[in-house]
Amino acid sequence: MRLNIESIILDGVEWEFMLEIISRTLLMFLIILLVLRLSGRRGVRQLTLFEVAIILGMGSAAGDPMFQDDIPILYGFIVLLTIILFYKLVTWLTRKSTWFNVVLEGKPMCIVKDGMFEIKKENDSDFSKMEFFAELRNHSVEHLGQLRTALLEVDGSMSLLYYPKDDRRYGLPLFPGQYEKIDPTRHSGPFACMFCGNVLERVAAEDSVCPRCDRRDWTLAINVGRD
Ligand SMILES: [Zn+2]
Repeated sequence: MRLNIESIILDGVEWEFMLEIISRTLLMFLIILLVLRLSGRRGVRQLTLFEVAIILGMGSAAGDPMFQDDIPILYGFIVLLTIILFYKLVTWLTRKSTWFNVVLEGKPMCIVKDGMFEIKKENDSDFSKMEFFAELRNHSVEHLGQLRTALLEVDGSMSLLYYPKDDRRYGLPLFPGQYEKIDPTRHSGPFACMFCGNVLERVAAEDSVCPRCDRRDWTLAINVGRD
């Protein structure tokens, strides 16, 4: 089978429809802007899952009438308006009912407490650890000992509380080069558990178990202060 690029791009094109596509696109674009303004949201930085669902729903309704001559712009407008009214209703409900809010968007999740990962059971964490490391590095956190609390908000953003600058605690390093497995019998401590961030002055043997999470990987803890 031969791939005919020209026919993929041009087959069925009606040239006289081009002008209509341009005017449909401009009109639809104005409607999208108008409807988004009606939603009452300011810009978009982080989206909750519900908002992502809304945007997915709006996408095709906004796009299809731009280039399909059998779809009146009015249809697209009605779909957008319905979605936004639904969005308004649901956000109103989430303000009225905490239960509804939690069902729809989840709860903020405590990730770091007292300089350690807050991990109760082995499979308790459904966030990707490496992603979370990257997020903390973005906030210029060099090791977990600098953090009193880290919350993962429902929109995916991170809220951080730090220890005071002069309170220098040891913690699990987050940057490559320092976050590396070592043999604790060949170094002097303190050591940090690579899984949960637990810091110990001494670790007896290479395969010593972390009393907090039962893992066996250790790295050197650091206590660099924040600038
Ligand atoms: Zn541990």
